[in-house]
Parts: sequence; C-alpha cells; structure tokens
Amino acid sequence: MFVDKAKIFIKAGDGGDGAVSFHREKYVAAGGPDGGDGGRGGSICFLADDNLSTLADFRYKRKYIAQKGENGKSRRSSGKNAENLIIRVPRGTLVKDCESGRLLADVSGNAPVLVAKGGNGGWGNIHFATPTRQVPRFAKPGMPGEEYEVTLELKLLADVGLVGFPNVGKSTLVSVVSQAKPVIANYHFTTITPVLGVVSMGEGRSFVMADIPGLVEGAWEGTGLGHQFLRHVERCRMLVHVVDVSGSEARNPQEDFEIINRELEKFNPELARRPMIVAGNKCDLATDEQIETFRNFVEEKGYEFFPIMAPINEGVDKLLNKILEMLSKLPPITRYEADPVPVAEVEKIDKNQVRITKHDNVYFVEAKWLFNIMKSVNFDDYESLQYFQRVLINGGVIDALREAGINEGDTVSIYELEFDFVE
Ligand code: GDP
Ligand code: MG
Repeated sequence: MFVDKAKIFIKAGDGGDGAVSFHREKYVAAGGPDGGDGGRGGSICFLADDNLSTLADFRYKRKYIAQKGENGKSRRSSGKNAENLIIRVPRGTLVKDCESGRLLADVSGNAPVLVAKGGNGGWGNIHFATPTRQVPRFAKPGMPGEEYEVTLELKLLADVGLVGFPNVGKSTLVSVVSQAKPVIANYHFTTITPVLGVVSMGEGRSFVMADIPGLVEGAWEGTGLGHQFLRHVERCRMLVHVVDVSGSEARNPQEDFEIINRELEKFNPELARRPMIVAGNKCDLATDEQIETFRNFVEEKGYEFFPIMAPINEGVDKLLNKILEMLSKLPPITRYEADPVPVAEVEKIDKNQVRITKHDNVYFVEAKWLFNIMKSVNFDDYESLQYFQRVLINGGVIDALREAGINEGDTVSIYELEFDFVE
C-alpha cells in the first residue's frame, strides 16, 4: 500500500538545568558560585532521502523525542549539548502542525530542516552573583524543547506529471524513457504508487517524470483511486496528458480527455492552467482517421499533440524534445515557504495558569502558554515589547507576581527574559 500521509509526535529535547554550586578547595573558605550552564536540548530536523518513496515507516513509529541537554556541573563546567534527531523522509514531504494547520517545513532541498528547536540550557549560578547577592542559591532550569503533533504529507517533486485514464500506457511510457520500472499490466490501477523516472537526454538535459496512478471520473471527490494521487500532480511544472487514441477499451478518447481535465480543474483550478501537451498512445491499434480526428480535437483546444506508440518508442523522441523545450521556459518546481509563527491576539488571552517561584528576590515565572507566545516576540523591538507587556497583564502574570509579593525593583525572570519589576 502506498502511504503518503502520516501523523507523528515530535519533541525536541529540553535544555539541561544550570547548576548551583560553590567553589570548594581545601583550606579555602566559602568560595564563589561556580555552577555551570546546562547544555542545549537536541532539535528535531527533517532530511530528504531519495531512497525513500513513501511515508510507510511512520505508521509504525509515531513518536520522535530528542535527548535533553546535559545539566551544568560544578567548577564552571557546562553540560553537553544533546545531538539533534534527524528524521528521514521522502523528498517533497510537507510537515504541518496538526493543531493550527501551519506549514512548518517543506522538506525538498538537500539540507536538514529544523522543525522543533531544542531548549537552551539554563544558566548556572555563576551568572547570578551580584555585589548584593554574593551567594546565589539558584540557577535556571533548561528551556523546554518545542513539541508538535505533525502531519507529514508527501507532495512529489517532478518536472513532468503524466495524467490520464488507467491503462492508456503511462507506465509504459515512463519505463521506455527512464530507468524506472513501474508495473505494467493490462488491467486498471496497476500503478498504485507514483513512480519517478529520471529522463536523461545528455549533459544538463534531464528531467524527472512522474507516473501518477490513473485518474478516474470522480477522482477529486474520492471515488476510486485518484483523489489521493492528484496531490502529487500539484507541483509538476507541466503535464503530459496520455490518451488511448484507439479507444481500445470501448472508450471514447475525446470524452476521456475532457473527463480528466475536469477532474484536474475540480481538484485545483490552478492545475487546469498548468502547461499541458497531449500524447496520443496506442497508435498501432488506431486507424489514421481516428488519430487525425483526435489531433484536430485537441489542437482546436490549443494543445500540442504527439502521436506515439510507447512500447516501441515510436514518436517518443519528439515528445521528449518538446518537453525539454517547454521546461527550459517554465519556472522551477514550487517549494513552499513555512508559515510564520502566528502572533496571539492579546484580547483573546484569558487569565491563565502561571507558576511563580521565588529565590533571593528573583521571581521565576513558568507557564507553557507564555513560553509559546514568547517565541513570536522580538524583544529588541519596542512595539513587540508593548505587545508582550499587554500579554503579561491580560494573561494574569502581573497579578500573579503581585500575589507572590513582588516589590518594585525585584527581578522577574521569564524563561530567557529578565527585567526589573516596575509598578
Ligand atoms: P497505465 O495504466 O496508463 O500505466 O498503462 P500501462 O502502461 O500499464 O499499459 C496498459 C496496457 O497497455 C499494457 O498491457 C501495455 O502493454 C499496453 N500498451 C501500452 N502502450 C501501448 C501501445 O502503444 N500499443 C499497444 N498496443 N498497447 C500498449
Ligand atoms: Mg500505470
């Protein structure tokens, strides 16, 4: 079975905790703080692997958790950073946050893509010594690693997509022009997995052709095979519509051609505008009159027509040359940009749970919801800071600090942010 969708849970490692420790040496009394910082938690990255063609592995393993950073140690020694966890997926996999639907990554390039960031390590107590606080008995905990429930969705990357009814000869065509070996058989739906074939026509003249399983009427709404596969045509730079001109299975090639075009249009109107040429296959079984009638039909609609006999490679070179010529003028394969981190609307933030702990007049604030919001705040920017201030008020953080007994001038520490409390 072809699996091109999966749902998994990913969690980056938390940062290691900072250490609380004091310098100790024989005969030396009461040394200063020497607790080191925690190490960074491992991030979760995705990497395109061309040896993979489906997301089947993810049906069995659904949880991916990166290691926590090592805790800081005494003698100013920092904890080790944890290794990143690399998840290999087929090229063209989209990673989306289930909750918001936000696109986190399009794993189409060659570099690993960071999707969930490991938490930074917390500072050890050596950072907290001040003239008035020479014995800081606290350190910071590591930051939490990001976590998401994500859907993985494969959207193939190919230059050319073959579309057409089942059994018209798409797989045959791919097998004669590339090294790919799709299943060819005289019954419908033999192709249940899209197959990518690399067509090489000499130096710098190669492209990727995708054999997309047969589309049938109603494909776009999920009847029969097809709907699931239309997604894979979406990124193709151009389409080759393969038709059995002989109408060998008591089919009407003109009708077939229209049906497929309608399916494309219904699935995504943009697909109907994708550059397309027509390959009339099974010419050996067709009369000259059939071929010419069909040629006139498609040419009238503005498509270029190429009669072929795929199994014996007849007419195929002309078709390939035309494809190359068109590709040279078409924009590259679409890569999607990750969606930006949304900014929470202040008005919609309710009073939320906040945990406050106090050490030496430093008030540590912990709240998962707040941590998530802080990711979208740029603390160097005045407006963002004002926004954040309103978040603190509306979210009940300021009230909670007051309740905990904070005074003017005390230090507030919210994850990696630190400031003095002003009434
Ligand atoms: P697909 O379902 O569109 O991928 O079609 P296939 O490539 O699997 O071909 C379906 C059947 O048609 C197979 O039995 C092929 O051998 C046969 N076929 C493909 N092209 C031609 C052709 O040009 N002429 C004839 N006579 N048969 C063909
Ligand atoms: Mg096939």
